[in-house]
Amino acid sequence: MEILRTVDSVRQWVRAQREAGRAVHFVPTMGYFHEGHLSLMRRAQHDNGAVIVSIFVNPLQFGAGEDYNRYPRDFERDRQMAQSVGVEAIFYPDVAEMYPAGYQTEVRVKELSKPLCGRSRPGHFEGVATVVLKLFNIVTPDRAYFGMKDYQQLRVIQQLVRDMNLPIEIVPCPIVREPDGLAMSSRNVYLTPEERTAATVLYRSLQWAQAQVESGERDASQLREGVFQRIAAEPLARIDYVEVVDAETLQPVERIDRPTLIALAVFFGKARLIDNCIVAPAAGY
Ligand code: AMP
Repeated sequence: MEILRTVDSVRQWVRAQREAGRAVHFVPTMGYFHEGHLSLMRRAQHDNGAVIVSIFVNPLQFGAGEDYNRYPRDFERDRQMAQSVGVEAIFYPDVAEMYPAGYQTEVRVKELSKPLCGRSRPGHFEGVATVVLKLFNIVTPDRAYFGMKDYQQLRVIQQLVRDMNLPIEIVPCPIVREPDGLAMSSRNVYLTPEERTAATVLYRSLQWAQAQVESGERDASQLREGVFQRIAAEPLARIDYVEVVDAETLQPVERIDRPTLIALAVFFGKARLIDNCIVAPAAGY
């Protein structure tokens, strides 16, 4: 497996893959891998391409007072895990390689960046869109894999690809969870054992909402309220938001009559966790 530290070395590696007639499949990450990341890499491998992963904790997408400095990092562990699932190259640039002195450009996907996490993390999705566009221009992948865990990020990237006419297929991948339902996240390491147990309320609440929709509930405010109250009943939880929005536009809905996203962000101690599910009225209702 190749460890590539520079833009030029990535371009060379990609050229060699293309000359060998291979498609390039790309998984952008911030590292500190777990099964969620590995599921994207396995999928990229399964789809028959040369798999390249990037590991870059992108300072541009962290706000002042957020966890950029303490974000967990362990390159050697990541390298071994990526190798074990057949990744062929890791792009592991430093900040100066991505944002050299004099860097000034930012990219903004206007509407999709505003609601949900965009409201509590101003500038976050501009940071995401900017780094992903740079990574796409460096790697020029045929396909790129994104987890539905970060659903708003996925929508922002889909819109970016469409608006900027990028010849890249975005492949959404399902959320990977711990056996007790907690969505896997590099940030779960911030949780104390008590917070870790308490955090299972998130998935239980989403499952409750899903069951409500399955038994015919169509009122979005009932669902929102039900999820909110279930989480609020957990003393270690501090809710940032719980929202019920159109799965495409991310704008609030009143009724569940098309695919709808139930999205939440909740603090447990130092960790801000996000989770979501998509609900839709079953055919026949
Ligand atoms: P990150 O390193 O947290 O920026 O995540 C890199 C990629 O892995 C993103 O596309 C995430 O959506 C995806 N990802 C993170 N956690 C999960 C998970 N639990 N299940 C599926 N994908 C995930």
